[in-house]
Amino acid sequence: MTKAERLDDLRPKVLACRACGLRDAATQVVFGEGSPNARLVFIGEGPGADEDRLGRPFVGRAGQLLDRMIAAMGMTRFDDVYILNVVKCRPPGNRTPTPEEWTTCRPHLEQQLDILDPAIIVLLGSTALKALIDPTLRITQMRGQWIERGGRWWMPTYHPAALLRNPSLKRETWEDLKRVLDKYRELVNPRHESPHYPIISH
Ligand code: SF4
Repeated sequence: MTKAERLDDLRPKVLACRACGLRDAATQVVFGEGSPNARLVFIGEGPGADEDRLGRPFVGRAGQLLDRMIAAMGMTRFDDVYILNVVKCRPPGNRTPTPEEWTTCRPHLEQQLDILDPAIIVLLGSTALKALIDPTLRITQMRGQWIERGGRWWMPTYHPAALLRNPSLKRETWEDLKRVLDKYRELVNPRHESPHYPIISH
């Protein structure tokens, strides 16, 4: 089976999940989206109001900013990357998901990563970092530092919603994404071009 077929096979099982209480208040489960053959995956926290309504990840203001960040990397959402969250149902009032909730949702994410088999994962924000690496870590301390684990390279950086609240964090975030581009050129495609970080610039 191709990766696309395996994701299609998994999708209805995830969409039918009611394993934690988040599904009770949510409109629907948000599976994630992107290219099934992506070698680069972005993982955020959970759906917000727009995502809950549309059933797609990162489609509100923060999502539009993420799309611009991906474009600056010379990529597009549906051609080059896959976008996931640590919980797939919207927490009421956009509160932070609890460790119990992200742990309950974890098997879905593990199966998705198993299928996608990305070389590089960008952790967007504190919750993704805590849920997937270590609950004691802080994003302000860990951002920009590679973590090698399970045969993959993990890069924590700020969540786009944090950049909307505090635009001064954009510069550091772009530095982190340039590290991601370096690693992408090293592991995936040495000729990958980015409009804002050309190969010849470093
Ligand atoms: S958040 Fe995850 S574990 Fe909880 S109901 Fe939704 S899909 Fe299932």
